[in-house]
Amino acid sequence: MDAMQRLEGLVEQLNQYSYHYYTLDQPLVSDKEYDLLYDELVALEAETGITLPASPTGRVGGELLKGFTPHRHLSPLWSLDKAQNEDQLQSWNNRAIKLIADYNSKNPDTPLPSPSYVVELKFDGLTLNLTYTDGKLVQASTRGNGAVGEGILAQVKTIKSVPLTIPYHNGTIEVQGEGIMNLSVLAKYNETALEPLKNARNAAAGALRNLNPRTTAERKLSAFFYNVGYSDGIQYSDHREMMAFLKDNRFKVNPYISYHDSFDHVVQELRLIEERRPSLDYLIDGAVIKITDMRTREVLGYTDKFPRWAVAFKFEAEETTTILESVSWNV
Ligand code: NAD
Repeated sequence: MDAMQRLEGLVEQLNQYSYHYYTLDQPLVSDKEYDLLYDELVALEAETGITLPASPTGRVGGELLKGFTPHRHLSPLWSLDKAQNEDQLQSWNNRAIKLIADYNSKNPDTPLPSPSYVVELKFDGLTLNLTYTDGKLVQASTRGNGAVGEGILAQVKTIKSVPLTIPYHNGTIEVQGEGIMNLSVLAKYNETALEPLKNARNAAAGALRNLNPRTTAERKLSAFFYNVGYSDGIQYSDHREMMAFLKDNRFKVNPYISYHDSFDHVVQELRLIEERRPSLDYLIDGAVIKITDMRTREVLGYTDKFPRWAVAFKFEAEETTTILESVSWNV
């Protein structure tokens, strides 16, 4: 098979898997299997210099479901660059450090600080984008294709920890987080369910993208918030300030968040998180490392698909075999 045929085959196969994962919330394969094919496509695109128009490497997310009102995000919602191991993580950091050094040599009067990092859990659920105007929750949407998502306000309102009003009244903000189903809640739900749910990620995603909010309510979902994506009245100098804003406005934030000046400490923290993972009451598929300083984020900017100032460190999938066995999940 020549390279072009393999490229076409991979694009078709990955798009088929994405459709089942993002649109139907019923994956056909494990994340690990998907990621291996995706990495093969990235390598082949680099080798041949060809990126087919339908390639998933140039786009975020999947198609929108019919029946929901589309919501255009006030700022785009991104995917994340990923590192599968510590070498790849180090390469990400080296690239960031080089971009900062290049900027500083051209702008000696306004240098960027040396990077410091925040490490957060990477929750495995459904991205949520909440819009508040003058303190009131006026829209909630999925990430969709990054520019436009599905409006799911009625569904999100069933999540009891999502504030319907917030103290901040100064115009419009958009806040991003992850809708999840706690594992203990999933177990309890399954004790009496006629059709047991097998996976918390798809249970949460499927419930939030269900046209009937009563179905969403029955799943007793939760959410963690980690970002202010848009704001027309407030700016933060760093991630700590932004997280303090979220807490002050009564958003549920995750307790496992840590700040580090040294990259070695980031790596140590990742090992700790991996040890802690089995004891958590929700699914994570890795950790996210972000540079804390907001001005550095602006300078590093974005590719078509992800920010250069953040990377996802992916853990081994916990449930490869379960997923392969259960193609016909109820979600
Ligand atoms: P991503 O891995 O690029 O990560 C971005 C998402 O991470 C955000 O949208 C956000 O919802 C989430 N997130 C969780 N915690 C976060 C935090 N603390 N900070 C920032 N973001 C956080 O997501 P993607 O673009 O949906 O990812 C592609 C991944 O999805 C693949 O690596 C693959 O594992 C999986 N996938 C699987 C299949 C399948 O068939 N199994 C198909 C398509 C994609």
